[in-house]
Amino acid sequence: MSDLFEKIVSLSKRRGFIFQSSEIYGGLSATYDYGPLGVELKRNVTQRWWNAMVHRHENISGIDAAILMHPTTWKASGHVDAFADPLIDDKTSKMRYRADQLIEGHVDRLRRKGKDEDADRVYQALVDALNAEDMPKALYDIIMSEEIRSPDSGMFDWTEVREFNLMFDTTVGPVANPDNKIYLRPETAQGIFVNFHNVRETGRHQVPFGIAQIGKAFRNEIVARQFIFRMREFEQMEMQYFVKPGAQMEAFEQWREERMQWHLDNGIRASKLRWHEHEKLAHYADAAQDIQYEFPIGWQEVEGIHSRTDFDLQAHQEYSGKKMEYFDPQSQEKYIPYVVETSVGLDRTILTLLCEAYREEEVGGESRTVMKFHPRLAPITVGILPLVKKGGMPEFAHKVEDTLKEHFNTFYDEKGAIGRRYRRMDEVGTPYCVTVDGESLEDGTVTVRHRDSMQQERIAADQLAGYLINQIADWKID
Ligand code: ATP
Repeated sequence: MSDLFEKIVSLSKRRGFIFQSSEIYGGLSATYDYGPLGVELKRNVTQRWWNAMVHRHENISGIDAAILMHPTTWKASGHVDAFADPLIDDKTSKMRYRADQLIEGHVDRLRRKGKDEDADRVYQALVDALNAEDMPKALYDIIMSEEIRSPDSGMFDWTEVREFNLMFDTTVGPVANPDNKIYLRPETAQGIFVNFHNVRETGRHQVPFGIAQIGKAFRNEIVARQFIFRMREFEQMEMQYFVKPGAQMEAFEQWREERMQWHLDNGIRASKLRWHEHEKLAHYADAAQDIQYEFPIGWQEVEGIHSRTDFDLQAHQEYSGKKMEYFDPQSQEKYIPYVVETSVGLDRTILTLLCEAYREEEVGGESRTVMKFHPRLAPITVGILPLVKKGGMPEFAHKVEDTLKEHFNTFYDEKGAIGRRYRRMDEVGTPYCVTVDGESLEDGTVTVRHRDSMQQERIAADQLAGYLINQIADWKID
């Protein structure tokens, strides 16, 4: 893990954003709990997503489907047969790796050494292998011919490459027999597809329209060592947009644009985001691109935009025997709609925000750690700080807080020196602090201290809410 990444993990724990799950028992790998500040950040992100996707589009409705679904769902979707990662074991260290990721790492190393031609050649071999009939064997051959060594032990002592299904299963009811086997959903999308007609009819939607959902998904990931980047239990925010066959590319472009803008509006710098085309299209997809963010661990996917054709609805029609067709009143035709999906990880979005916000700065010879979250997403928007805890200041401060609570998440703190209180607020990314002092009691003004510039201004307490709303609307990342 890089130094910066470790600092972010450590701050997340120290300040109550994210904890290791079941820590008192030694932790459960690749599962995490959100603490008091993390959960606020998460709620702000989900609200922004819901607002952008559902409330701002008349033709998109939301649902909240169950995690447990009829097991045939996963037969139809192809997950039972094909939701597998190619894994390989280092026989010396007993560590397990994803074969495709080992090769990607090798390509990156070649590039860093300036061996671009070799990097291009191996990358092309990887693309071919991922599309090969016998994918595990093709990946294994690259690892052998390139003599790729184990990242942890440095050894070249591999097992064969095998495919490993990522779905968690369990049984329903009291009897543990194979017929009662069900799965924890590995994606939220299928809950949307099986409700296609329910939502279309009750929402009185006509194609094109969309269905959106935020919810948990579970994958028994092989390599899960990167904090909340790759978890076994995580959350997705997905939207499936149903269009007339032939209209999918236009919708794909529209959603590409809207989704990139959403990340920019979260305060992510444009230089830290890029598009990445899939090396291998899923067999049913006719276009797929990822939005990647430059994490301290390198460029990695945050969101996928996929054109999934009519694969899912066709498959559900076949397996359920229920018609998934739509009658188009305009063209008087019957068809199974095509689907463009936007699928973003909530936890990965949180990780982009933590990485983007984290700054260490020198101020007057001292260093400060500051999280420069977008004020709309920051877990606490306004810190309320009476200069001292006497002389009527706490009472005045509480009154100010009451006027702000309706609009913002506030946090009251009267303990310790004011400078230290500012630093504490900086470290959790609170964009504004309101300080109440002796003058406040005389003329009704307070000091607003800005997190980013550390400038202070005097504002009439009764104008504060409007002032902060304008500040938030004008905020820009530096
Ligand atoms: P990856 O290649 O990183 O495994 P994926 O292509 O399998 O991801 P999708 O199935 O397209 O991912 O899922 C959509 C989004 O869900 C991803 O862009 C990512 O943000 C999130 N996601 C997927 N798997 C995980 C995970 N194990 N932990 C956290 N987020 C995840």
